[in-house]
Amino acid sequence: MKITIIGTGYVGLPTGVGLAEFGNDVTCLDIDEKKIEKLKKGELTIYEAGLEELFTKNIQNKKLTFSTSFKECIPDSDLVILAVGTPPHPITKEADMRYIKQASEELAKHLAGYTVVAIKSTVPVNTGDAVENIIKKVNPTADVDVVSLPEFLREGFAVEDFFNPDRIIVGANTTRARELIGNLYTPFKDKCTILYVSRQSSETIKYASNAFLAMKIQYINEMADFCETSGANIYEVAKGMGLDSRIGAKFLVPGPGYGGFCFPKDTCAMAYMGKFNGVDLSLIEATIKGNEKRKINMAKRILDMVSDVKNPTVAVLGSAFKGGTDDCRESPALQIIEIMLAHDVNIKLYDPEALENTKAILGDMVTYCSSAYEAIGGADVLAVLTDWNEFKSLELEKIKILMKRPQIADFRNNFDYNLAKSLGFEIKTLGIK
Ligand code: NAD
Repeated sequence: MKITIIGTGYVGLPTGVGLAEFGNDVTCLDIDEKKIEKLKKGELTIYEAGLEELFTKNIQNKKLTFSTSFKECIPDSDLVILAVGTPPHPITKEADMRYIKQASEELAKHLAGYTVVAIKSTVPVNTGDAVENIIKKVNPTADVDVVSLPEFLREGFAVEDFFNPDRIIVGANTTRARELIGNLYTPFKDKCTILYVSRQSSETIKYASNAFLAMKIQYINEMADFCETSGANIYEVAKGMGLDSRIGAKFLVPGPGYGGFCFPKDTCAMAYMGKFNGVDLSLIEATIKGNEKRKINMAKRILDMVSDVKNPTVAVLGSAFKGGTDDCRESPALQIIEIMLAHDVNIKLYDPEALENTKAILGDMVTYCSSAYEAIGGADVLAVLTDWNEFKSLELEKIKILMKRPQIADFRNNFDYNLAKSLGFEIKTLGIK
């Protein structure tokens, strides 16, 4: 199948690589010329575990190409996948549809022969209708079906999730579009459920799922706060809860708040849609508020540890919104750092993959370090804000020698709490009194 993917970011690129690996002829198209130039040279533009090998292999096999030209790619495509961003509107927080509109208008001009346009971007309900209308307006004779094909990959596990999806949701209104998407996902036929629903249901499934997961995170964070006052241990509590198959063990890990490009914007977009439709979505609204408070609370806990220090230095481990990715968008770590900077705390920062993206946001406001131990040297507090595996192997004995004061704010349950205590650290962790 000839496929063009419009938008070559955290979703478009791994999807393109995965579909090329299945033998399709895939072109990843983007308006960002620098990005495409880099990709054409065989250089990756994002960090994702396991991506590089398949990326290189499929370029060499000529199954994966890159372009900035709609004119060159669209006419020959059987399938066009929209994977452009849908960021939050700066004021209303609804999903900003400008990239979807621009891309739809542009692709419509070049459609030739029967084409399925699949929307993989996370979009408000009825966007399928809107895209169909744009296409029909620009190109009234276009033979096209618009499909909703939401993406559920987790950043950091994008490749793993592409090849092992829990389910594939297809919102299609015609038989021929269902057939084409069915053919595309033949390799998954015996692996997972492919659920065919209406476009509106498919669009809603994506938001409803993300809002639910965000709520689950906020819930376990609230339970962690409760454990800190009650004497219970959140890890024991979460394990006990997770053994109930109705609850499930995943997403029951306390942390400094959810972040990334999906949960913050998707919860806000869902809340906006609720207001727009006159529906009370108070659980989602409480989740959004709770998550905002959480990050302020985390920063306060670190600030309390240096309240008696003049010109304090905090070593921060991790700026990506979670381990396994270089993505810093809406990272709780960055928001916590910003609060500390506003309180005149010096920050020494290390992240295994996200320093370049962090520099683009924080500039020279913090000191960037090339290793965790370099960041820790001379610090009054060590704050673990991202759950990178690399941090697990740090040695507490060595850390104690390097630090000015043996204090740890471990918001990712990185260290052995009892060992840290026995070595004389003051350690604040989540969900343990
Ligand atoms: P991204 O910002 O990493 O990538 C979007 C790309 O689209 C950019 O490279 C941009 O240059 C390009 N683009 C914008 N307008 C364009 C146009 N008119 N023509 C061609 N290219 C254009 O975004 P992302 O993280 O890949 O997310 C894409 C969509 O997928 C969003 O709707 C997001 O909510 C959804 N999603 C993201 C994830 C995730 O984990 N990141 C997971 C599931 C769904």
